[in-house]
Amino acid sequence: MILARTLRDAGSFLFKMREDKRSVGLVPTMGALHRGHLSLIECCNSENAATVVSIFVNPTQFNDPKDLKNYPRNLERDISMLRESGCDMLFVPGIKTIYPRPDLRIFDFGGLERRMEGQFRPGHFNGVAQVVSRLFDIIKPDRAYFGKKDIQQLAIIRKLTAMLNSNVEIRACETLREDDGLAMSSRNVLLSAGERENAAIINRTLREAVRKKGMEVCELKQWVADVINNNPFLELEYFEIVGSSDLQPVNHWAGTEDELVACIAVRAGRIRLIDNVFFSNFASL
Ligand code: AMP
Repeated sequence: MILARTLRDAGSFLFKMREDKRSVGLVPTMGALHRGHLSLIECCNSENAATVVSIFVNPTQFNDPKDLKNYPRNLERDISMLRESGCDMLFVPGIKTIYPRPDLRIFDFGGLERRMEGQFRPGHFNGVAQVVSRLFDIIKPDRAYFGKKDIQQLAIIRKLTAMLNSNVEIRACETLREDDGLAMSSRNVLLSAGERENAAIINRTLREAVRKKGMEVCELKQWVADVINNNPFLELEYFEIVGSSDLQPVNHWAGTEDELVACIAVRAGRIRLIDNVFFSNFASL
């Protein structure tokens, strides 16, 4: 595995790949890798001649400076995980490599950037769009891999590639979970033992909510809010039922042609956790 820290390091590997007409897949991450990231890499390996993984904790997507400061970082451990993963090039750019000058671009995603995550993390998706467009410019991948766990991010990136007329094919990968259902996340290591144990309720509640489709949407929302907020370790930020293609909230079951997804964000102490489930995966179980 090549470790590239600069544009020049990355450029020589990528030039050779292009010259040999070999496909390149990109897996953008913020490090503190877990099996969820590895599943994206596996998918990328299976569809491309070379896999590039980037690790960059992007300051422009953090609206909370404490969250940025406390974000888990463990490059040595990440490197040893990646050596076993089939990754061909690890790109670990410095801040000046990604942002040689301040990125002043403001993206308009038609309101999607202000709902759900955007409401609680203003400016977050603008930062995501800045870093992803920059990584696409540098790596010029044929395909890029993102997790369905961050479903709104996935939708934003699909819009971004359309807006930029980019040829990068966006591939979506399933969410990997711990045995108790908690979606894997780099932030899980920051949970206290009590928060960690109770965090399993988030996915359990989502799956139960999906099975309660007989209820009115507003009653279901109230039910979820009660279950989460009655737990002393958890506090609900939002629970929404949205169409999977446009992520528009649905307030009535009737007239929804699109596949539905239940999306949730919960605070466990200082840590925000998000998750979602597709109705088609659980409704009939
Ligand atoms: P992050 O390092 O958290 O920015 O995540 C990098 C990529 O991994 C994003 O596309 C995430 O959606 C994806 N990802 C994060 N957690 C999981 C998971 N539990 N399962 C699958 N993909 C994930």
